Amino acid sequence: MKADNCRYCSKGTDLAEIVADLEVSTLYITKDQTYKGRCILALNDHKTELFQLDPGELQAFSRDMTRAAKALYETFQPGKINYAAFGDTYPHIHFHLVPKYEGGPEWGSQFNMPLNQAKFVTKAELEESIQAIKSRL
Ligand SMILES: [Zn+2]
Repeated sequence: MKADNCRYCSKGTDLAEIVADLEVSTLYITKDQTYKGRCILALNDHKTELFQLDPGELQAFSRDMTRAAKALYETFQPGKINYAAFGDTYPHIHFHLVPKYEGGPEWGSQFNMPLNQAKFVTKAELEESIQAIKSRL
């Protein structure tokens, strides 16, 4: 099921590029790389709460999340990965997968989105990260 005017239903790439299509979700990498390797995993169906997924879909989404997080871990070797789900602005199930680095932003604290301090990288740098992640998925 899709919803009108939903960034994730339309697979919009204004703020993030698609890394890969997984089992029941799509992995994006954000153009803001304040946290190097920060990605978003969005369910393909338009659902707003985890309890709306049937058990099989929930298991598949968990597999996708684990697979993506492991690829990020192997690619960027962070000290920790944050898994953040809010959905206030875009109420379509998506998780921010945020590698955190010792000495880096919000190390030892929760991830936040400092939009006024966004660190946008070049298309070439983003493409390099996409290929590195894809090779480990
Ligand atoms: Zn949607």
